[in-house]
Amino acid sequence: MVRLAGFLAISLFLLPALAVARSSGPARSTVTFIVIHTIGGPSCQDSSVVYPPIKGDAKEWMDYFIKDEVLGIHYVIDRDGQTLAGIPENQIANHAKGSNATSIGIELVNDGDGSDPFPLEQISALVKLLCRLRSSYSISVDDIKGHSEVDNRMCRCGSSSFKKKVDPGTAFPWQKVREAVFACSLAKPKAGNSDANPRPSSSIGSLSRSKPGVWLQALESTRLRTSCPHSPTSPGP
Ligand SMILES: [Zn+2]
Repeated sequence: MVRLAGFLAISLFLLPALAVARSSGPARSTVTFIVIHTIGGPSCQDSSVVYPPIKGDAKEWMDYFIKDEVLGIHYVIDRDGQTLAGIPENQIANHAKGSNATSIGIELVNDGDGSDPFPLEQISALVKLLCRLRSSYSISVDDIKGHSEVDNRMCRCGSSSFKKKVDPGTAFPWQKVREAVFACSLAKPKAGNSDANPRPSSSIGSLSRSKPGVWLQALESTRLRTSCPHSPTSPGP
């Protein structure tokens, strides 16, 4: 746990455009842990648990979070390793129920079904970001959590039930990531090191690929059929 004042002076220099990002919560003074998510996750459709495939890149998904009136996220990393910053680290993002106050949320573009692989580019980008966050806030490797570890809610689907949050799922290479982050130097990154400092979403304008719109419409329809409520107190894509 580290006071943010010193870090803010550095981060405002490194990430000046974060000031224009949307905020979904009040300012805070501490960051104590990190929650890793996947965009995809289980949903109930026709009494069966399904994992809708996830398309799109970091720009498209950050745009989704920025426009959403409930959800919020600090970072999105896509399969190519593009990392975009959203809500500033010194503000609460609504990404994990009951765990938002002192956490930083990172969304990975992935199906979250335990089968969709996490490309090396994506994991490398995640490790670089985790190393920087660990250094900035003195976060231990054990305080890098998966969403599934901090949310045990169950949902009904037909005659059975399923765990609502299983991300990042069994395909996520926890051991590889933890070993890489543990090996990180605790030295602060140098200014101008673009690998360690993700670009804010507002500065990216030419990454458009397949739009997630169609999938999002399908997801919203499946959400309506699940017995799990989706409300402002039940965030998480
Ligand atoms: Zn999640």
